[in-house]
Amino acid sequence: MNEMFRLIRSGERFASSGVHHLIRPLSRLQPLDSCLQSVTITESMRLEQAYPEIRFRWRSRNWWARLTRMPAECQHLENEGAWMATFIPDTLYLRGKASHRRRPARPEVSLCLACLKQQMEKELPHFPGRVIAFEPDGAEFSQYFFVGSDEFSAAGLQPEVAAAMSRRLDQAMDDCASCDRPATWLWFSRDEVPSLDDVARIAMARAETLCSCHGPRKLLESFARAPEANLFYVNVPYGESGAYVWI
Ligand SMILES: [Zn+2]
Ligand SMILES: [Zn+2]
Repeated sequence: MNEMFRLIRSGERFASSGVHHLIRPLSRLQPLDSCLQSVTITESMRLEQAYPEIRFRWRSRNWWARLTRMPAECQHLENEGAWMATFIPDTLYLRGKASHRRRPARPEVSLCLACLKQQMEKELPHFPGRVIAFEPDGAEFSQYFFVGSDEFSAAGLQPEVAAAMSRRLDQAMDDCASCDRPATWLWFSRDEVPSLDDVARIAMARAETLCSCHGPRKLLESFARAPEANLFYVNVPYGESGAYVWI
């Protein structure tokens, strides 16, 4: 599979989106000196330490893969490449510039859907803060990432969109729609909010209140409905509250 072509193609796709300044840069096209620097940085946390449950293809972790900054790939991507995501759990891109939200930051890896689900199911229910999350368009999305509420504008969200999201995060939440636990997630289906540029719908949508277990489950179900995906950037929540958005 032609990796570079896929990356460039997805880059074109999000350049046309209304939230285009949230783009994660095409970092694999960096000049070599910055590649070398990145190798040194990612060495700080080893794959086995960061992702003990995942087995990685040895071919994707040799010196050449590291030098060219190709992320390690889970073993399943050897034969099944239709659904893959680049998981960069601890990094936020502020107007294209990488910024770590946990240290040491875990290295960037390429995962199949099952391995991504495993990582997110393990981690997301422990996030104590509030999350508003938007169902992605399975045919269109190329990134799905969390932005903390303190960084909506620093990350490049339009001021009206940021204000609407902040108001939704501040509103009282009912109990979870699927169990008796208090809700911390607010889930917006695509029927309610088809585009993140639609401020009025973000403000007015009923949305579904979910607990910290059922919220992530809903999100992962939406990932699984896409028969194919090549997500360029997926991270995990940090800070006190925020929004999971897609482009
Ligand atoms: Zn896998
Ligand atoms: Zn629940």
